[in-house]
Amino acid sequence: MAGERRCALIVAAHPDDADFGAGGTAALLARAGWEVRIVVATDGSKGSDDPAFTPETLVATRQAEQRAAAAKLGVASVGFLGFVDGELVSSRALLGAVTREIRAFQPFAVYTHDPEPVIISDGFVNHSDHRTTGLATVDAVYPTARDRLNFPEQIAAGLPTHKVRELYLWGSNQPSFAVDIGAVLETKLAALLAHTSQFGDGAQFLEFARERWRDADGRTLERFRRIVLFR
Ligand SMILES: [Zn+2]
Repeated sequence: MAGERRCALIVAAHPDDADFGAGGTAALLARAGWEVRIVVATDGSKGSDDPAFTPETLVATRQAEQRAAAAKLGVASVGFLGFVDGELVSSRALLGAVTREIRAFQPFAVYTHDPEPVIISDGFVNHSDHRTTGLATVDAVYPTARDRLNFPEQIAAGLPTHKVRELYLWGSNQPSFAVDIGAVLETKLAALLAHTSQFGDGAQFLEFARERWRDADGRTLERFRRIVLFR
């Protein structure tokens, strides 16, 4: 990867998903000098039962929380695509928006939701927005961002095509790659706790979270399905 820009793009459906899925990895990459950008596809406008929020104040709150979380990870760059939470569908608009992010940022690696499982580990339903975000991102990585005749108006506006080298999918039933995040677990948890509208003061959440990424050998891992697209 000599001469490659050391940068990674994380595409998540909702505010907090990037921190759940790849927050530890993002913190490690940032510490190693990588440029990391988090992009959130939806506006997070359905993510609270608290009647004190209107959809507008919830969107603003969750964007501020995502920026604060990213700052904890050492991630300076955060973007919001602004699609309505809970209503994400596969569309040219979504594919074009993610393609634009890839062309503008030129990442070596892209991280996103695994779009395939409807049920993860027989334990979680994989939110429809997660599947849709993951699928649009995989499609944008290959082949849409690569080929100049896809969304040619982006090329005409000055964006270059781009070949992403490596793709990492979290929430997979077939993880093939693990990142030991033990050194940055507290950083990841601090980022998650920045989402105050989701986790309150965090005491109960922390109890669950400290165990969630621990494996049988006591290591703390983020697991991904890894696809090397171009060598
Ligand atoms: Zn989510």
